[in-house]
Amino acid sequence: MRDIWVIAEDLPWAAVLIAGAQTISKEANIVAFINGDEAAAKGAIAHGASSAFSLPLPPAAMWEGYTPALAEKAKTDKPALILLSTSRRCRNVAGMLAGLLDAPCFSEGKGISLSGDSVSGNTMVFGGLAAKNSSTTAQTVLVTMGAKDFEPTPADASRSGAVGTLPICSGAPAVVARKPKEAQSVNIGEAARVVSVGRGFSDPADLEHARTLAKALGAEVACSRPIAEFFKWMPEECYVGISGQQIKPQLYLAIGISGQAQHLYGVRDAKTIVAVNKDPEALFHQNSDYYIVGDWKEVIPALLKAVNG
Ligand SMILES: Cc1cc2nc3c(=O)[nH]c(=O)nc-3n(C[C@H](O)[C@H](O)[C@H](O)COP(=O)(O)OP(=O)(O)OC[C@H]3O[C@@H](n4cnc5c(N)ncnc54)[C@H](O)[C@@H]3O)c2cc1C
Repeated sequence: MRDIWVIAEDLPWAAVLIAGAQTISKEANIVAFINGDEAAAKGAIAHGASSAFSLPLPPAAMWEGYTPALAEKAKTDKPALILLSTSRRCRNVAGMLAGLLDAPCFSEGKGISLSGDSVSGNTMVFGGLAAKNSSTTAQTVLVTMGAKDFEPTPADASRSGAVGTLPICSGAPAVVARKPKEAQSVNIGEAARVVSVGRGFSDPADLEHARTLAKALGAEVACSRPIAEFFKWMPEECYVGISGQQIKPQLYLAIGISGQAQHLYGVRDAKTIVAVNKDPEALFHQNSDYYIVGDWKEVIPALLKAVNG
């Protein structure tokens, strides 16, 4: 059985990918490549990797700079699968590795299975409207996986395995300047309750109403893609969907969002979805546990009254 590699920018994500590798094959050796120091590599071992390499990042270096070294090692070691996280940087690495290895990549692959020399799995097509099943007998196959795709195995510090370091190649892309990001400090991926806003809000000042409701509910505020990407009313990391964040809150309250497939994809694992939309035919209504047909200008005050008593 050939190895399965996992490549991740941090330990929590490496742990998810290791769990993914264990689900795909009980027998394969799992080799982890993780940004950080020896402690990070040992953490990957504790989560189930057979061996691990730390990829320490010099201050002016970029994570993508490891790609040539990873590609050379993959050509020699010929892993059956390389699992990578769907973080932006890891997606870059996945694309570059696929090019250097001339290997296929299952982007956000689901249901990946490995049987003999064949790898099969699903990827989304048509912006998430359909899933495509494919299989390949390529020597090495790349798969990107989301942070919530697998439940990590708890760390067991008594596990042992070989630990090494992979050198970054010279001439790799370098950081020339850093600018602080204009972002809110919340992480909607971790929030138990999320209030999300869409184009049903026509003025950025109106988002304050949603924020007030979110505060009363102890929720974080998220949005649909146009609110972040086109209007720039909220930071990009706040939008939910196939090209944004995929989240699993206990409660997802979508206000003024139509519920297109690309948005719904990001909340398919939410426990309870409540949609507020003035259009009785809105798609979100068919895909929610509860829905309220109404103008948010009336619904938000009514919900606030109900929550605050
Ligand atoms: C490849 C691809 C990837 C994409 N990825 C994403 C993604 O990751 N995330 C994402 O969100 N989108 C994504 N999109 C865009 C997606 O298809 C939709 O266009 C987008 O989600 C629509 O955003 P919206 O629901 O806010 O706006 P709209 O579709 O314009 O819906 C606004 C809704 O608000 C309702 N409304 C209006 N006024 C009120 C009011 N006063 N009170 C209550 N309701 C009101 C309307 O009835 C309407 O249903 C993607 C598209 C493509 C092609």
